[in-house]
Amino acid sequence: MARVAFIGLGHMGGGMAPNLAKAGHEVLAFDLSEEALAHAVERGCKRAKSAAEACKDADAVVTMLPAGKHVAQVYREAVFGAAPKTAILMDCSTIDVATAKAVEAEADAAGYTMVDAPVSGGIAAAEGGTLTFMVGGSKGGFAKASSFLEKMGKAVIHAGGPGAGQAAKICNNMLLGATMAATCETFVLAEKLGLDPKVFFDISSKASGQSWSMTSYCPVPGVGPETPADRGYEGGFAAALMLKDLRLAMEAAQASGAYTPMGGEAEELYQRFVDLGGGSKDFSGIIKMIDDSWQA
Ligand code: NAD
Repeated sequence: MARVAFIGLGHMGGGMAPNLAKAGHEVLAFDLSEEALAHAVERGCKRAKSAAEACKDADAVVTMLPAGKHVAQVYREAVFGAAPKTAILMDCSTIDVATAKAVEAEADAAGYTMVDAPVSGGIAAAEGGTLTFMVGGSKGGFAKASSFLEKMGKAVIHAGGPGAGQAAKICNNMLLGATMAATCETFVLAEKLGLDPKVFFDISSKASGQSWSMTSYCPVPGVGPETPADRGYEGGFAAALMLKDLRLAMEAAQASGAYTPMGGEAEELYQRFVDLGGGSKDFSGIIKMIDDSWQA
């Protein structure tokens, strides 16, 4: 049994931290929100009064925070110095590559081993312990982190050096945003051309146009396996989070000089969808905006 500090117990962390406790670890939890903290304590975690207190004597530190600024602040103000140098530090939040690399460099300079380990999978996967972790950092850091991450996920993959986990996450989600938007407009065109969406699905999901957005997460209700489209686009992966990831991808594209026109188009479309009030809807709900006459 190890002593694990867990900071950030929101939609994702609130599901992940109890899985570490269930695996037999002593989980010292902290969140600025009393409600989030109380929920984690009900589910087997121990209450810490501050992030720094959670880190004291920890063998491992996990953070699951909203964005890069929160991650930088928590590590600089509460983790570095408070956690023992032997602790493995794991940031599982989705943040910009530049901040991930900067915080990992600071950790290294201070004598810590740190990895970025963002996740694929939503709230249900966090609860169920079936997340996929994409890990950036040294081989030694990956090995140390894996034994903890495995208790919260179904796959733990070493993406490369510091920041590589975040790079993999935003590249994957840029591709997902672009293929979802393309899948939605394709169904709109197919319908206008008189094709039955179920017949088109049967054809395209077995032909060269298929993608995960088509085959496993079809944006049209009643077509293919059950998806958020069948529940009025509720639940699933919120469009606001897709927009966040697309923004991170576009920032990274600009910083690295990559030409990403499809990612840019997807970002604009999701920005419009969020501006129209679709931020809390599943990201496949953008089909309603692409053609507002769409009968979902
Ligand atoms: P959330 O907003 O529900 O939770 C974040 C938690 O961090 C909140 O409870 C907040 O109070 C806490 N927090 C913020 N600043 C803090 C601080 N200084 N100290 C302690 N606690 C602090 O967000 P979420 O949905 O759980 O997402 C967390 C991360 O996971 C984000 O980076 C998100 O992009 C990523 N992610 C989310 C999903 C999803 O489906 N929700 C999926 C994959 C990845």
